[in-house]
Amino acid sequence: MFGRAPKKSDNTKYYEILGVPKTAAPEDLKKAYRKAAIKNHPDKGGDPEKFKELAQAYEVLSDPEKREIYDQYGEDALKEGMGGGGGGHDPFDIFSSFFGGSPFGGGGGSSRGRRQRRGEDVVHPLKVSLEDLYNGTSKKLSLSRNVLCSKCKGKGSKSGASMKCSGCQGSGMKVTIRQLGPSMIQQMQHPCNECKGTGEMINDKDRCGQCKGEKVVQEKKVLEVVVEKGMQNGQKITFPGEADEAPDTVTGDIVFVLQQKEHPKFKRKGDDLFVEHTLSLTEALCGFQFILTHLDNRQLIIKPQPGEVVKPDQFKAINDEGMPMYQRPFMRGKLYIHFTVEFPDTLSPEQCKNLEAVLPPKPKTQMTDMELDECEETTLHDVNIEEEMRRKQQQAQEAYDEDDEDMHGGAQRVQCAQQ
Ligand SMILES: [Zn+2]
Ligand SMILES: [Zn+2]
Repeated sequence: MFGRAPKKSDNTKYYEILGVPKTAAPEDLKKAYRKAAIKNHPDKGGDPEKFKELAQAYEVLSDPEKREIYDQYGEDALKEGMGGGGGGHDPFDIFSSFFGGSPFGGGGGSSRGRRQRRGEDVVHPLKVSLEDLYNGTSKKLSLSRNVLCSKCKGKGSKSGASMKCSGCQGSGMKVTIRQLGPSMIQQMQHPCNECKGTGEMINDKDRCGQCKGEKVVQEKKVLEVVVEKGMQNGQKITFPGEADEAPDTVTGDIVFVLQQKEHPKFKRKGDDLFVEHTLSLTEALCGFQFILTHLDNRQLIIKPQPGEVVKPDQFKAINDEGMPMYQRPFMRGKLYIHFTVEFPDTLSPEQCKNLEAVLPPKPKTQMTDMELDECEETTLHDVNIEEEMRRKQQQAQEAYDEDDEDMHGGAQRVQCAQQ
């Protein structure tokens, strides 16, 4: 929007560029642009500046609303009103929207790859078990995607031709003009509702029977996702160019992101595996043997050296029984076993006597019965130490907060006393 009355600027230049009279009909403009743009296309050795000017002139004059503004107020009005209105679009975009591809027979794709939009990537999570990541696997997944209609080659019409949308003159955008005063206008740009911003319309009779003019059809596709040995949680497996196809668009990728499911027995940290194992006190002291079924169903015998004692909370490691390393599957991490030792809750005097007979002797008390009589009796209680410590810390915090308030109160009192 602009408030000042725009001064009348040149409003014949665009007609001169296209070589048409001011009264030229839309068809004449089209013909004139087509002829001149092909002749001056930079890909055919034409002058890029001239090519740009042609596109600019055509963009304005082919749009009845813009043409009206241009005729009435000239080039400057368009520039002021629309943030560069006259030259807002890329000349190559205007050219290809006019011809619906390359007029030089370069197939559907433009000879200028950088002009194409890039379609979105489609990301799917893929749940895998730890066994899958240990052994490697492949999963067949059926997905449905949009592909360019094979019958009309993505044109949407039988003849391969598409008409420019009459609602927006092929620009895909509509400009609404509001007269705010005698020489004040407001312009608003929004996507054309008639063509959904594509700038194209297909004649009902010419509509492709297969895609109903949509240019794309749904296709079921089976992708085989190869999960390699040693892949990590969160690792991506990419299928380039397998996402939804759309006309004049570089197809995006389908990306699978591995999500490792929790394993009931094994935990993974990098290339290492961890298992928990609980031993009875007797096993911890006198030896044990157990079978651990690995992720590839091999049965491993786990046992300590003869005479070796396993202490509570101790870790032991088996080399080369961890995860295979990604792309070096012959190398493996470690398998760690974390031992918990279960102690009996009580022992009978009989059991104690038997144990004392074999275990290292207790330290002897150096006190006489007389001296012991002088001492006080105590009782040991069971405690949940974490719970008790947490409660104590909370109490300490509350006491501190109260102290804090007292401090402030005190400071105030001191202030009062000073006054
Ligand atoms: Zn339209
Ligand atoms: Zn079709």
